[in-house]
Order: sequence, then C-alpha cells, then structure tokens
Amino acid sequence: MGFLSGKRALIVGVASDRSIAWGIAQAMHREGAQLAFSYVNEKFKERVQPLAESLGSKLTMQLDVTNDAEIDSAFAAIKQAWGSLDIVVHAVAYAPREALAGGFVESTSREAFKVAHDVSSYSLTALARAAKPLMAGRAGSILTLSYLGSERVFPGYNVMGVAKAGLESTVRYLAADIGPKNIRVNAVSAGPIKTLAAAGIKGFSNILHIYPDRAPLRRNVETSEVAEAAAFLLSDAGKGITGEVLLVDAGFHVTGM
Ligand code: NAD
Repeated sequence: MGFLSGKRALIVGVASDRSIAWGIAQAMHREGAQLAFSYVNEKFKERVQPLAESLGSKLTMQLDVTNDAEIDSAFAAIKQAWGSLDIVVHAVAYAPREALAGGFVESTSREAFKVAHDVSSYSLTALARAAKPLMAGRAGSILTLSYLGSERVFPGYNVMGVAKAGLESTVRYLAADIGPKNIRVNAVSAGPIKTLAAAGIKGFSNILHIYPDRAPLRRNVETSEVAEAAAFLLSDAGKGITGEVLLVDAGFHVTGM
C-alpha cells in the first residue's frame, strides 16, 4: 500500500509530460493517490486528458486560475465526484514574456506586475479558499512550487522573483490561517528544470549551466527528485510540517561562491 493511498488530489499545472506537476502526479499515483487534473484552456485539454487517463484519472476540468467562475465550477465538479478533497498541488506561474528578459526596471510594467502576481501568487489563496470546505474534517495538504529567485536575483527572472516572494509569504499566511482546520500549506522550491514555463525566461539556460558548477551535488535536479519531496510533504509523513519552503536544488542555495 502506497503512502498516499486513500488520498484524493487535484493537480493544477500540468501542461506537458515535462511539467513538474506531471512528475508530482506520477509519484502520487505510484503511492496510491486518486487524481483529478485541470487544464488551463481548450488547447491544453488535448494534452492533459491523455496524460490523466494514463494514470487512470477520468476527472479533468478547465481551470484558469484568474477566473473565479472556473475555480468555483472546478471545485463543484470535485465535490460532486468525490464529496471531499485531501490535496491540492498548485504548480502554476506566468508572466508576460517581455517581463522575463532584460533589465528589471525597464521590463516590469504595471500590467506585467499585475498579471504575474495574479496568476503566480494570488491564485494559491484563491485555490485554498475553494478547497477549504472540501477538506473539512480531513487532514488537508496544499503544495505550491517556488524558485530561489524569490530571495536572490537571477538575471531575467525579474518580476517572477517578486511574485515568488509573495507566493512564499502567502504559504506562511495561509498555513497560519487554515492550520487550525488541519490543513497544511507548503512549498517546494525547485532547482532549474527545462519545462515550457522555464523556456519563457531569457537567460534560463545560463541558470541551468551554473548549478552543476556551484551546487554541492555538482548537478541539476531531476523532476522526479522534486516530485518525491513534494509527495512526502503532501503525505501524512509530513504531517508535522506546514508553512515551510523546502529547497530541492542539489544544495545550490547554501553556496556563497
Ligand atoms: P509548466 O509550463 O509545465 O507549468 C506551468 C503551468 O502553469 C502550466 O500547466 C500552465 O498551463 C499553467 N498556467 C499558466 N497560467 C495559468 C492560469 N492562468 N491558470 C491555470 N494554469 C496556468 O512549467 P513548470 O516548470 O512545471 O512550472 C510549474 C511550477 O514550478 C511553476 O510555479 C514554476 O514557477 C515552478 N518552478 C519551475 C522551475 C523550473 O525550472 N522549471 C523551478 C522552480 C519552480
């Protein structure tokens, strides 16, 4: 029996088989969790549905996290199908491409700031609010994905770093607020991995190259390593942990030079 057996989870953020959310879903499936998947729009439905089916999941739904009506209907669909929910994985980030290149001052427009924060940071609170009633009386667990650009400056990461700082702070405020309801909220801060979202960051390949030089483990992390840590935090094995940002980055964050 897997360490997530009996758990029901909504996975938000699968776009392709390279998505970190997909790696997490695979680890969770292996450990016995029952999964529902969302896709951001019709275009991604065609990609996400076959992936969901390959893990025996028939519960898929459209969910653009900037759309409150879609959030409501996604959680209504889960309520109807399952009646309750144990886990939400939030692996969502977006900023306009022009904001993820060049200097921070020039590229951070008011609109780019707004969009980046709405999609990548505020959405965690919106999903937690929708999930809370379905987690009542259970051991709920919510997990988001962050990056070290929240604390340190990485060229090109720009407004996304600021949004990730907000996201990590949100993890702590949510943890404090809904902890008394026995809902835990944590983040995994992953090292760089080649995905669709990462491809939007100018200078991402430089970031990818610098880790093997500086990280204590002298390499980049694999999606599966991020996924194993996520599955642990989401499971009852992590039931004493909340408000935490766990760095899974081959140790890069401890190095000075
Ligand atoms: P990805 O492109 O596979 O996933 C990003 C997801 O965000 C996609 O599924 C996309 O559909 C979704 N998304 C964007 N806008 C949305 C919206 N309005 N509503 C709903 N969904 C929306 O890339 P990924 O790298 O797997 O990213 C997942 C998370 O991991 C992100 O939060 C990212 O910042 C974080 N992360 C990635 C890396 C990396 O190097 N790849 C490192 C650390 C953290």
